[in-house]
Amino acid sequence: MAVLPIRISGDPVLHTPASPVVTIDDELRALVADMFETMDAAPGVGLAGPQVGVPLRLFVFSYTEDTGEEEGDDTGSLREYRGVAINPELYISPTSVEPADPDTESEGCLSFPGERFPLVRGESAILRATDLDGRPYEIEAHGWLARIFQHEFDHLDGLLYVDRVDPVYAKVARKIERKKGWGVPGNAWLPGVDELDA
Ligand code: ZN
Repeated sequence: MAVLPIRISGDPVLHTPASPVVTIDDELRALVADMFETMDAAPGVGLAGPQVGVPLRLFVFSYTEDTGEEEGDDTGSLREYRGVAINPELYISPTSVEPADPDTESEGCLSFPGERFPLVRGESAILRATDLDGRPYEIEAHGWLARIFQHEFDHLDGLLYVDRVDPVYAKVARKIERKKGWGVPGNAWLPGVDELDA
């Protein structure tokens, strides 16, 4: 197992639609193990193939949801969602027309490291995918988990969340990109080695 370098915005693999996974073999299993290790080292809640330079339709995710209905409610419990989605399909609920709330809807990306911008996403999403044993599964996600799925799924279509944010934030993102020398091929960072000012 190894921590893999994470590609940064500008690398063509991040901006190109990925291809379906055809075979689940030892090579793919090793890649997925490395992707889990890389995501945990970053740390992040999701990581897609293109982010580690592999143009295949798969992503890993790891998120613990607090199912407590409201604050102070101790009847809720923690539920862990951790897995790999191979050749996923995603069915997303309609997004609100309200502008994104910077306090509760700010998103980040390991391929645009250290930055966060608000973005409206569908409140719920149904993920249908295959696991490493080739078994199909389905997860009905709400809130932040639904956001993670939408974010990772976008990566497989060659989209970064900064491509979706409102123009005012897109302008800031482009400025940061220029300042940091991103936006061109060949930039990457290695979790655990490169320090990033978050
Ligand atoms: Zn991302």
